Amino acid sequence: MLKSRLLWQIWSILGFTLIISTMLFGSLVADQVKRDAVNRVEQTLHKQVQALAPVLSELLDSGVSLSPEALTRMTPGITARITLIDRRGRVLADNQKPASQMNNHSDRPEIIRAFSNTYGVVSRYSDTLKVSMLYVAIRVESAGAAEGVLRVALPITSIDEQLRSLQTRIALSALAAGVVLLAIGYILAFRLTNPVSQMTEVAREIAVGEYQLRLPENREDELGQLAAVINELAQGAQDRIEELTGHRNRLTAVLASLTEGVVAVDLDQQVQHINQAALQIFGLKYDQVIGRKFGEVQTVREIKRMVETCIDEQTNVVATIKFGSQLLECSCILMPEADAGDFSGAILVIDDATERSRLEEVRSDFVANASHELKTPIAAIRGLIETIIDDPAMPKETFSRFAERIRLQTIRLDRIVQDLLQLSRFDSSEREKHLARIDLAGLLRQVHQAKLFDAGDASVEFTLSLQESSLEVEGEAEALNQLITNLVDNAIKYTDQRDGLVQLRLSRLGSMALIEVQDNGMGISKDESQRIFERFYRVDKARSRDLGGTGLGLAIVKHIAQSHMGSVSVESQLGKGSIFSVKIPLADPLEASA
Ligand code: ADP
Repeated sequence: MLKSRLLWQIWSILGFTLIISTMLFGSLVADQVKRDAVNRVEQTLHKQVQALAPVLSELLDSGVSLSPEALTRMTPGITARITLIDRRGRVLADNQKPASQMNNHSDRPEIIRAFSNTYGVVSRYSDTLKVSMLYVAIRVESAGAAEGVLRVALPITSIDEQLRSLQTRIALSALAAGVVLLAIGYILAFRLTNPVSQMTEVAREIAVGEYQLRLPENREDELGQLAAVINELAQGAQDRIEELTGHRNRLTAVLASLTEGVVAVDLDQQVQHINQAALQIFGLKYDQVIGRKFGEVQTVREIKRMVETCIDEQTNVVATIKFGSQLLECSCILMPEADAGDFSGAILVIDDATERSRLEEVRSDFVANASHELKTPIAAIRGLIETIIDDPAMPKETFSRFAERIRLQTIRLDRIVQDLLQLSRFDSSEREKHLARIDLAGLLRQVHQAKLFDAGDASVEFTLSLQESSLEVEGEAEALNQLITNLVDNAIKYTDQRDGLVQLRLSRLGSMALIEVQDNGMGISKDESQRIFERFYRVDKARSRDLGGTGLGLAIVKHIAQSHMGSVSVESQLGKGSIFSVKIPLADPLEASA
């Protein structure tokens, strides 16, 4: 508190006022008191001198000096000093000192005034008695017309003493008042500075972000009003900050949920924001990027150059950039300032087009493959028909052979078209699904029954093993039938006739139904088994074609499994055989009983 400037200001004002008022008051009072006292003494002396004048004026005639004792006797009861002076200034009588020892008094101011104005009063230091005295002198005249001056005087040392004591008392009172004023000043300063320093403290906290702090508003005065205004300011700031934080959080959430990578840089190319997708594309962590210059971030040089060009040349830049195995479609767009027409930085949007381009590639491959697959039987049919047309005299046997070949090619064409139609049906998102509870055991029995003949034809043993007599799944009967049939067809197709064995099995695996189709046929190498589920992929094209394969069977299997929330996998060893496993979630048993 003692460090408070206000306290010292209040104290100095009060101290200064006290000193000035004490001095003024002291001198006025002292002056008045002195004047009153001197007046009183003067009146007393005046009365005395008036009374003594008729008695003592007679001494002037004789011109004889009187001893102090004689004069005292003549003036009983008078304590004042009495002096009689003749016209020439000689002292004729004095009750305090022998007249003969006193020098000429004609130069004394009261004497001069008395001779000139008949009355003289002077307060001065007495050379004779060595004290301050008040002299009252009147001109007197004796019966014999001798002129002189009768003077009476009293010491005024007591008045001075009274004055000194009065001054001392005034000074002491001023001192006491000073102490009281110090205390009042302290209380006043405390009452002012305490809330002010509290406000300063809180205002400072608010300034550094503690917007929820509030000042007490319990005062009615200006400080209370100031506190209310500061509270309003803090509330306003808090509302704005909350609003801005809300905006920022929403924006961050939007940016975070984008699949495109977004990087915001300022005009110095310092990264202000980067979303999760961008971090993932660059394979970096948030701390490795944020706040750094984009040019120093460990990423593709072309993208850095893009950002640099965008900011330096103030132009939007779009480019497709290869980053490792990824294909990135990048656009760097200038970010306009909120109000002014200037730019505050740039936004880099990175779209990972790898999957899209892969799908595009798959699609164009598919079209090429499909066209190729269709072209071969069509070309064969055309060739055969043209030969028949060109040679009307063709022997009947040759004609029949050609006709048979045309029939086989058409069957092949039909199979390809059927498979393609089926695949495109699965691809269509708008396809209507006819879901039902299907007993896989029953379905497997049906397929087993249906394919026993084909297996027999191919001299392959075909067995069925059901771990449970009934296992239900939610699905489409026709599709699931197709799935199992395709796997069994393949197993029979790619199994050697000698000791050929194809096993169809059904078991429960936790909450899944497991369908396995095992054969002891030619098997598939590890590399090939990764690709056999692709459309038109065939390990041995010629053999597949000879066996009436289209290269789409397993792609259809994969599709059906996935559309039933399941999966398909293969375990195979070249020359030893393969096991194709399909897992499909079992239907909820509770729903069945409901
Ligand atoms: P395809 O109509 O040619 O049979 P799929 O899509 O059904 O087409 O199969 C793709 C390829 O996977 C086949 O060409 C064949 O090389 C291989 N394959 C499928 N099943 C088996 C199996 N059980 N044993 C060995 N190879 C198989």
